[in-house]
Amino acid sequence: MPIDPRAPYDEDNIFAKILRGELPCNKVYEDDFAFAFHDIRPQAPVHVLVIPKGPYVSWDDFTAKAPESEIAGFMRSVGEVTRQLELDGPGYRLLVNMGGHGHQEVPHLHVHIFGGRQFYHMIPD
Ligand code: AMP
Repeated sequence: MPIDPRAPYDEDNIFAKILRGELPCNKVYEDDFAFAFHDIRPQAPVHVLVIPKGPYVSWDDFTAKAPESEIAGFMRSVGEVTRQLELDGPGYRLLVNMGGHGHQEVPHLHVHIFGGRQFYHMIPD
């Protein structure tokens, strides 16, 4: 079920629990701004999720409310994860689903990193 992007942040969402270490994940990266882990249902040879450490429901919530230092830090972190995964040479795709039409399922902003193969179509479904 897609989320309501205007709902208040749910401290019990699955990614909040992963951030607090209450649920396991296959972690790939962490810094002051971001935490990254492998998607549990990968849709490409590399499928990693990068989430901000702050409590932001969605891309909309983050870009409207986060201080510029957090936005800049998070953007840099996403780039750092792609380099650590050695995707900067072959290339990769980033995706953010937002709200109902975007079919966002988890109410904590996450950037999908897809890599490890050639992508052709703009929309992956
Ligand atoms: P979205 O549709 O953009 O909200 O994507 C949510 C993503 O979270 C999906 O690709 C799921 O496979 C992934 N996901 C859900 N639960 C977990 C989990 N516990 N660990 C890792 N990935 C998860």
